[in-house]
Amino acid sequence: MALPEFKLVRPRTLEHAAEFLAQHALTAAGDEAPPRPARRSGGVEIIAGGTDLIPSLRQRLFEPEYVLDLRSVPGLRGIRELSGGDIEIGGLTTLREIERSSIVCQRYPVLSEAVKTVASPVIRNMATIGGNICLDTRCVWYNQSQQWRRSCGFCIKKDGDLCHVAPGGQKCWAAFSADTPPALLCLGAEIEIASAGAIRRVPLESFYTGEGEARMRLGRNEILTRVILPGATAGCRGAYRKLRIRGSIDYPLAGVAVALRGNDGMPEARIAITGVNPAPVLVKKAGALLAHGALSGDLVSAAADLAAAAAKPLTTSALTPEYRREMVRVFTRRALMELAGAPY
Ligand SMILES: Cc1cc2nc3c(=O)[nH]c(=O)nc-3n(C[C@H](O)[C@H](O)[C@H](O)COP(=O)(O)OP(=O)(O)OC[C@H]3O[C@@H](n4cnc5c(N)ncnc54)[C@H](O)[C@@H]3O)c2cc1C
Repeated sequence: MALPEFKLVRPRTLEHAAEFLAQHALTAAGDEAPPRPARRSGGVEIIAGGTDLIPSLRQRLFEPEYVLDLRSVPGLRGIRELSGGDIEIGGLTTLREIERSSIVCQRYPVLSEAVKTVASPVIRNMATIGGNICLDTRCVWYNQSQQWRRSCGFCIKKDGDLCHVAPGGQKCWAAFSADTPPALLCLGAEIEIASAGAIRRVPLESFYTGEGEARMRLGRNEILTRVILPGATAGCRGAYRKLRIRGSIDYPLAGVAVALRGNDGMPEARIAITGVNPAPVLVKKAGALLAHGALSGDLVSAAADLAAAAAKPLTTSALTPEYRREMVRVFTRRALMELAGAPY
């Protein structure tokens, strides 16, 4: 599958990149942060590592006039400790750099575990954290060649007006299938977003819309520049469990991240899931429940039930929704028991 024609733009500074987006993106510059509209022909697509964008371009999932390559923009890469104890990860930092970072491994093990499960080492050498956070939602009816999609009459996410997964509705139910966002949600991460003349910082928790078609609150004139991990969640024990068909390469068909602090008395736990909804979801009710006492088998099972209830998988992948939801329950229970040091 050949790439469509586009003009490649390589800005040398963040200001130039933002100005180019302000002039050429389909969303008007200065727009506050509308849900990112579904992709249309024309406009600009940002490329970071390109591990998702390039296959998608080949499948004609988008046909931009310009592709804006961020890799020559200085200052967007690396992991740094900030004065207050927070950690900053540049949006263009590769997943391999994060995987190898001793700071992340020691202070934020849940992120370290999640990163190691993304795709394969070769892909992690190219793939960036910004691209992982902004990853497009996925569906068996969408991530296909143009010819394949045409033969089915296309779908609501691109070129059609029907969701094959939920034909009665008007919404796209493609699943958000990136591995690091649930770990970042457990850590209370924030992201920094730049546009021409403006920078805003938002909790990752408020970044996703929950809609498969317009998945995130990122204007098309905006760039994700940094991820901030708060010092307050450093040192939490962490685990990430992932359901996939092959032990490497595959996207999560269900994923559970857990961060835990304390053991006896009132443990502080945060649980987030991915691969089973159009957005990664922080299961707040499970965290609140676990704050009620020591991690007993009953409490852990109840928290796992809440995580499974928050999972709303549809037939967007090869495995059945029922199995994927059940695995959310199983993974949550296993991860919690493992972190509590108890057999499961
Ligand atoms: C075979 C294969 C297996 C994979 N398996 C997994 C997996 O198991 N788990 C997983 O999570 N992912 C997987 N991926 C997807 C992908 O490799 C990763 O999600 C990766 O982190 C994407 O990062 P990237 O830099 O390559 O993004 P790109 O492909 O460059 O971009 C992805 C999207 O993010 C946008 N974007 C990128 N950076 C920015 C930014 N700084 N600001 C604003 N928008 C931005 C782009 O416009 C694009 O829409 C897989 C991909 C392949 C090809």
